[in-house]
Amino acid sequence: MHKTDTLNLLRDLVAFDTVSERSNMALIGYVRDYLSAHSVESHVIANEAGTKANLFATIGPKQDGGVALSGHTDVVPVEGQDWSSDPFGAVERDGRIYGRGTCDMKGFIAAALALVAKVDAGRLKRPLHLAFSYDEEVGCTGVVPMVEAIGRDLPMPEIVIVGEPTMMSVVHAHKGFGAYETTIHGKAAHSSLPDAGVSATLIAGKLMQALQAILAERAALTPHHSPFIPPHSTFNVGRLSGGEAVNIIPGKCRMEWEYRAISNEDAAAIPAAFAKAAEAIEARERERFPGVRIETVRLAGVPPFVPQADSDAEALLKRLLGTNEAGAVSFGTEAGVFQQGGMSVVICGPGDIAQAHQADEFVEVSQLKACEALLDRLAEWLCQDA
Ligand SMILES: [Zn+2]
Repeated sequence: MHKTDTLNLLRDLVAFDTVSERSNMALIGYVRDYLSAHSVESHVIANEAGTKANLFATIGPKQDGGVALSGHTDVVPVEGQDWSSDPFGAVERDGRIYGRGTCDMKGFIAAALALVAKVDAGRLKRPLHLAFSYDEEVGCTGVVPMVEAIGRDLPMPEIVIVGEPTMMSVVHAHKGFGAYETTIHGKAAHSSLPDAGVSATLIAGKLMQALQAILAERAALTPHHSPFIPPHSTFNVGRLSGGEAVNIIPGKCRMEWEYRAISNEDAAAIPAAFAKAAEAIEARERERFPGVRIETVRLAGVPPFVPQADSDAEALLKRLLGTNEAGAVSFGTEAGVFQQGGMSVVICGPGDIAQAHQADEFVEVSQLKACEALLDRLAEWLCQDA
């Protein structure tokens, strides 16, 4: 028989090396077997190659409504990090569980699975759903086919709790982001003959200035009540590479950049304005050399999680936790994907985001206990008349 307590489940989950670039099928198989042992049927939604999958399950009435507990099964790599213990062997020290994914976010998944063993499905008046995804850490792409299947092949939860680490506080907003790679094809030439070439790195400089101007324009439109820090949308050029030598005009340059948007409007406007600026710069440079090209590819993106006044999800969590507080976070999650799918969403989970992605990642046992307490109250609520 499976162990059914959060700590042992967490230890088992951490032992699966589900770094995003690898398969999560072994973990999904483990969860499916566990649920099956508790008479819960799983819907596994695999990628085309069959190497990764989402898992969706419903406990209680097989119908729309109720609450989904959402978590991603993938974790970030450990290479180059100085760990004091095996990252895939969860160990307890000083009231903390150390291991990759303990905080982000297998601790929440373990607590959700532990709840399944405790809850009496026959008493549930509203369904409890589990929605576990893959490829969150590489741009929230895995969850998309699951959200597409929700409401079509799968029941539509009324409320989704995304259990990312918030120290169990209620989070109702985060910025969205988009990551892009822009490749500039100029014309290489000897540096003593500037008119014979088109510098791709200089064009990159113009593109960066354009980005700065675009973001300044958006920032001026930021509403006064913005819950974010900083309150406006931002951008970053995180990687820039181009050129061969100091005496050659660079023929090619590549820049990787991102925006972090406070609203769906900004998330649409920023890449659109960049594309327009790039087109104008390209047209101007082509007058000198027709071979100039500026190509932009979207690498990844996460929709913003837009604050909605008094959403059902936020109201429920506040009631269950006995708090009036809710806030925004600066990291991205799958919340916006569920929100765009028509569900009421809130983020609340054990652990501190400061520990996520770090060497010696940990979650405090007290945080897991607080999460268990919340989920117990949630189960009671699901047993009450709707
Ligand atoms: Zn996460």
